[in-house]
Amino acid sequence: MNPPVRVLYLAGSGRSGSTLVTTVLGQYPGVFAAGELRYLWQRGEVENRPCGCGRPLRDCPLWRAVRRELPVERAATIAAGLRGRLRMRGLPALLRRHRRGDRPVPAHPDDAALAGLYAAVARHTGARVVVDSSKLPPYGALVGALPGIDLRVLHLVRDPRATAFSWRRRRGLDGDTDPELMSRPPVWKAALLWLVWNTVTVRLWGDRAPGGYLRVRYEDLTADPEPTLRRIADFAGADPDGGPFTGPATVRLTPTHSVAGNPSRHRTGPVPITADVQWRRDLSRWSYALVTALTAAGLRRFGYPWRRGAPGPAGAGRPAGDGRSAQDGPAAAGGRPVGVGRSGPARHEEG
Ligand SMILES: [Zn+2]
Repeated sequence: MNPPVRVLYLAGSGRSGSTLVTTVLGQYPGVFAAGELRYLWQRGEVENRPCGCGRPLRDCPLWRAVRRELPVERAATIAAGLRGRLRMRGLPALLRRHRRGDRPVPAHPDDAALAGLYAAVARHTGARVVVDSSKLPPYGALVGALPGIDLRVLHLVRDPRATAFSWRRRRGLDGDTDPELMSRPPVWKAALLWLVWNTVTVRLWGDRAPGGYLRVRYEDLTADPEPTLRRIADFAGADPDGGPFTGPATVRLTPTHSVAGNPSRHRTGPVPITADVQWRRDLSRWSYALVTALTAAGLRRFGYPWRRGAPGPAGAGRPAGDGRSAQDGPAAAGGRPVGVGRSGPARHEEG
């Protein structure tokens, strides 16, 4: 019997820094940055979209080896099955099952293929930790219940006014030349999705994630990149000294083999980590007020101010966790200034 596959699951809402964290973690020894594995079947297998290394996924040597062990001829069916099982309207029932201590997403015949994917990835990469940045909490719950998976949850949170602004940008799914755009929900919808996914992440794992739960705010990460990534690597079970930092806020990135995610996953070479704060200037007053009103409960919980420009309280957003791993640590001083603005060549505006 093989040992369980350690999966670091990045949970929360989109545009919260998950691509950045995944790509940087993928540089640590023994860590494989898999990207958004829930999209492997559709965007990777059916649509043959680019791997993080730039090749179409089916031509990437690593994924070619992994695919040989998977029922890829059923990829479209598996993708459709996942969409059906993870629908928003199933959320109340999912949380009810979780509260009762039942499996949140009921078992399904495709689960063997899904479990096989993680096992094959671990085997072919030799990684001790597989980073899955799928974000969607119901998918994380599904993965956590698969046989042979040891799930740790990294909850990434970002100011919802920033994520709502980010969602409105026009961006190609795989870069600026891709005619297919990343989704662009209106700000009210982005706000509600932020509230739902972050609340559900806390409900599912904040109090009792078996493998551990760590919450990190994008603002703290970009204010203090090296110590924050070190903490995340340690939490994941990787060597915290093995990171790609060439300075406190600069990393040297080599290509990853990540599936789906923000187009910034294709960046390589020296990359400074700075906060993208364009929204502070360019988000309209109306949008700011609307997002603030719709996410008020979450703003308080995660330590974000109501008023524009007001710093969050130091140490805010302290998670409820298992005490061992759930901590905000030294980077939690929300009031410190973050990075630079829009014209910086390497701002991280994230998926
Ligand atoms: Zn590749």
